[in-house]
Amino acid sequence: MDLVLNVADYYFFTPYVYPSTWPEDEIIRQSLSLLVVTNLGAYILYFLFATLSYYFIFDHSLKKHPLFLENQVYREIMCTVKALPWISIPTVAIFLAEIRGYSKLYDRIEDSPYGWLGVILSMASFLFFTDMSIYWIHRGLHHKLVYKRLHKPHHVWKITTPFASHAFHPMDGFLQGVPYHIYPFFFPLHKVVYLALYIIVNLWTISIHDGYYQVPKILEPFINGAAHHTDHHLFFDYNYGQYFTLWDRIGGSFKYPSALKGTGPMHYIKKVVGKNVNGHARNGCQNEELFNGENLKTK
Ligand SMILES: [Zn+2]
Ligand SMILES: [Zn+2]
Repeated sequence: MDLVLNVADYYFFTPYVYPSTWPEDEIIRQSLSLLVVTNLGAYILYFLFATLSYYFIFDHSLKKHPLFLENQVYREIMCTVKALPWISIPTVAIFLAEIRGYSKLYDRIEDSPYGWLGVILSMASFLFFTDMSIYWIHRGLHHKLVYKRLHKPHHVWKITTPFASHAFHPMDGFLQGVPYHIYPFFFPLHKVVYLALYIIVNLWTISIHDGYYQVPKILEPFINGAAHHTDHHLFFDYNYGQYFTLWDRIGGSFKYPSALKGTGPMHYIKKVVGKNVNGHARNGCQNEELFNGENLKTK
């Protein structure tokens, strides 16, 4: 994160904001700057890519599904806008530790344990570590002791739009980000790779909420895409994964997506909506029996 902070200091904070007597590496200044940069970055990433996805990828006929809530897009956005500043507070504490030198992040390829090979292996290792951790954290968030308080706000959305991607309870949002932040404290990682992977995971999170169900046939068994995550929002106890289906298969929670079987929300809309369903559901829980005869679990 010091890559971003250095740029922000050079072009903005040092010339225009802070007094020249305040050193760039002073901890209070770093904390304040990180808070600004983290919030701004999160809002820009969210609004830019969720909006692009909403207008160019998301199929707007999904809004005709009876489980799509009234004013849902507005509610997803408001939930996110309120959550991001709270999520940023503990996140900034971790970023602060990172820029003050407590992580294993490095600047130059020569600092990588195995050169370029090490950089490539670290990408695979980052994906494996975060995919595994997110699976278990997400599964833990479904435990009855914490589900209602922490994770249910994200499951209000049964038919998601890209704007639901970051619409969490703040603690839920932070916990699901923890694996990405702690990885470089345990394993060496190039700073640019870290930044790129961090942006990519945010884009991935948007993409699994965008209702675009297709993945290349050859990757279908391995990739946890929008079709899988749609079934997670609809049926709760399946497809907790992030990028891959691996941990759902190991953990016994894999469900072949209904959207790929021809029984997903789009098929339902084409077959049923317009004939005998009028209006939107006020509450996703009211329409449990509506989904192709498959009973939705409500929690
Ligand atoms: Zn969940
Ligand atoms: Zn989701």
